[in-house]
Amino acid sequence: MQHCNFLLIGQGLAGSTLALCLVAQGQKVQVIDNLDTNSASRVAAGLFNPITGNQFVKTWQADVIFPALFNFYTKAEQTLQHRFFFPLPLYKPLDSIEKQNAWLAESSDPSYALYVDTQNPSDQYNQTVFNEFGGITLKQTGYLNVKEYVEATTRYLQAQSIFENSKFIENEVVIKDNKVHYRQYVADHLIFCGGYKDANSRLWSWLPFSPAKGDILFVDFEQGSYEHIINRGCWILPMAAGYYKVGSTYHWDEFNEIPTERARKELTEKLDKLSRLPYQIRQQVAGVRPSSSDRKPFIGQHPAYKQYWLFNGFGTKGVSLVPYYAQQFAAALVGKGAIEPIVNVARSYKKYGLSKSF
Ligand SMILES: Cc1cc2nc3c(=O)[nH]c(=O)nc-3n(C[C@H](O)[C@H](O)[C@H](O)COP(=O)(O)OP(=O)(O)OC[C@H]3O[C@@H](n4cnc5c(N)ncnc54)[C@H](O)[C@@H]3O)c2cc1C
Repeated sequence: MQHCNFLLIGQGLAGSTLALCLVAQGQKVQVIDNLDTNSASRVAAGLFNPITGNQFVKTWQADVIFPALFNFYTKAEQTLQHRFFFPLPLYKPLDSIEKQNAWLAESSDPSYALYVDTQNPSDQYNQTVFNEFGGITLKQTGYLNVKEYVEATTRYLQAQSIFENSKFIENEVVIKDNKVHYRQYVADHLIFCGGYKDANSRLWSWLPFSPAKGDILFVDFEQGSYEHIINRGCWILPMAAGYYKVGSTYHWDEFNEIPTERARKELTEKLDKLSRLPYQIRQQVAGVRPSSSDRKPFIGQHPAYKQYWLFNGFGTKGVSLVPYYAQQFAAALVGKGAIEPIVNVARSYKKYGLSKSF
């Protein structure tokens, strides 16, 4: 029997970050993951951007989650001795006078100053993007190469012999003497970090998950280049390796990792309205985001079985949200803090009574 304080199921972005936070607190951790090659974390673009959408809305919690993400991923690169965090400015060309006015109204809010770059590369992009109305440049933007981050974390956990590559079978878990027993492991707590697949769990299916499938294209531009992330309708992300990612789509009617023709068409139509450069598509990937119906994470304890916890629901913004909430959750788990009510699964406990099936 191997004893641990926390048995984590799933080591995507959420499980990786929580494991690192708990290990840093001196906790005994064991992680199980079946290394699903198409998990959201392994296909995600990993963008972080404090001001999103057509109406230039500041991301929920931006002023706390952005300092946390810069701090966390920079330190993680040192701990894991690998490069995966790439701050990179984002250029957003505007497509009408109305958008110029909308931006002027929003940007007069002094709290936006932190995120707007006064250096504007508008002219630089006249030949390569449809740029008639100029644009704005955002800072504190960039991308996490999530696949590299997750893989570096797996190696780190393997080196400490606290990682197992296997498929977790929920029906094999038993609670005995207040402890969780699963195969050779005896844990004080079991934490589910399984992404959208936790929506099918016997323990968590009562929660209002709303998974969203997304596709991304990998493209080559042969007659020009982009130094910034370019974003309008879709985004173009220059990867350190020399190619570009273009994405992404949102579909709520299918939950699988198979790239589709409809997504490819949607993305190429959007790209054709943004970029003037000819391109070749070299690959297409798809994954499913673990979103919740109120777009807030699901963090906290099962209403009936106190040994079971969930760290999930990071949806479209996992890269920005996970570091801040992993640190908050890890502190709460060791009795040094609390989980904010707005992200706590307790906000949905009422639904549990309706669908209790075991
Ligand atoms: C196309 C696309 C683009 C995206 N772009 C961005 C972006 O630009 N910026 C951003 O912030 N976010 C983006 N996201 C969202 C981001 O990927 C997610 O928020 C984040 O990766 C979720 O991480 P997770 O660890 O909760 O889930 P996952 O990445 O799904 O990880 C779950 C892990 O659990 C494991 N697992 C599940 N069940 C079992 C089991 N029974 N046994 C063993 N292991 C199991 C899986 O193998 C996997 O490793 C994107 C997602 C997609 C699909």
